[in-house]
Amino acid sequence: MTAEPLFGRLALIGFGLIGGSIARAARMRGVVGEIVATARSAKTRARVMELGIVDRVVDTNAEATDGADLVILCVPVGACGSVAQQIAPHLKRGAIVSDVGSVKGAVVRDIAPHLPAEVHFVPAHPVAGTEHSGPDSGFAELFINRWCILTPPDGTDAAAVDRLRAFWTAIGARVEIMTPKHHDLVLAITSHLPHLIAYTIVGTADELGEVTSSEVMKFSAGGFRDFTRIAASDPTMWRDVFLTNKDAVLEMLGTFNEDLSKLTRAMRRGDGEALFEHFTRTRAIRRGIVEIGQDSAAPDFGRLQTDVQKT
Ligand code: NAP
Repeated sequence: MTAEPLFGRLALIGFGLIGGSIARAARMRGVVGEIVATARSAKTRARVMELGIVDRVVDTNAEATDGADLVILCVPVGACGSVAQQIAPHLKRGAIVSDVGSVKGAVVRDIAPHLPAEVHFVPAHPVAGTEHSGPDSGFAELFINRWCILTPPDGTDAAAVDRLRAFWTAIGARVEIMTPKHHDLVLAITSHLPHLIAYTIVGTADELGEVTSSEVMKFSAGGFRDFTRIAASDPTMWRDVFLTNKDAVLEMLGTFNEDLSKLTRAMRRGDGEALFEHFTRTRAIRRGIVEIGQDSAAPDFGRLQTDVQKT
């Protein structure tokens, strides 16, 4: 718990996995004085009220923004522009406006033109998530030891960047600063392309004629199962990611296709040495990720058979 709250009032616009996790973490650590939340649908707002993890739930984005010191947009990337337009006239002088969108170039392009000069805009992307969505899916520990990338536009007040950095650090994240363009390129290979591949392969398996879908499910532990977790991610969120980070994803997809062709050629020629060398290199990458604490070395991605049987 921090000694003094870093912000008086936090407004969360959108309350799903990310908004809900921020609320839980900020409350647990005493990072803000008060949390006001809103969401698009009456159903979600009613659920947030029932959960009792924020101080107030209000009906509109404008009401949530009034008097807030930190406003975080936790909505799909494609909705950020219209939300920014709605909140702009209600922003308090000196407030910090941020977001959590998985794409940064489009978010900056869509939000910045609406904001008045007397507020600070510091876009952010917590690189942490699960395949679940909605107000019940959040949890306070989501950001612990995960990176949160800030992409402040040129000329952003350094003190505002430091305050947002302190907020994310207080709820467990490690913070790095990048340009929006670089962020979008890095995330295209580390997140967006893997999701595209998972969505593709799970769809392909679903359309096979000779191998039945019950066989695909039954024998999924052979590798397919780990793609299905990624391919179960929220369709709205990921539609927006691919529409708004198209250029970077297409660039990475080009490189991926070339590498896939190389492996296909090695297989066709029976070039075991090339395959072995490639797989040895990729295994070292996995080890590197475990070494820097970004995943557990537990076999089978940490899932015990007993845990599976419980669900
Ligand atoms: P989520 O669980 O689906 O929650 C989305 C929230 O946004 C809900 O409150 C929803 O309201 C609201 N919303 C949806 N469409 C809207 C629209 N057109 N206008 C206004 N509000 C709208 O999503 P999430 O996973 O928290 O993702 C939120 C943001 O975080 C996205 O920008 C995503 O790129 C980013 N992000 C996600 C992850 C992840 O793994 N999920 C990780 C890092 C960053 P209702 O409930 O009322 O429909």
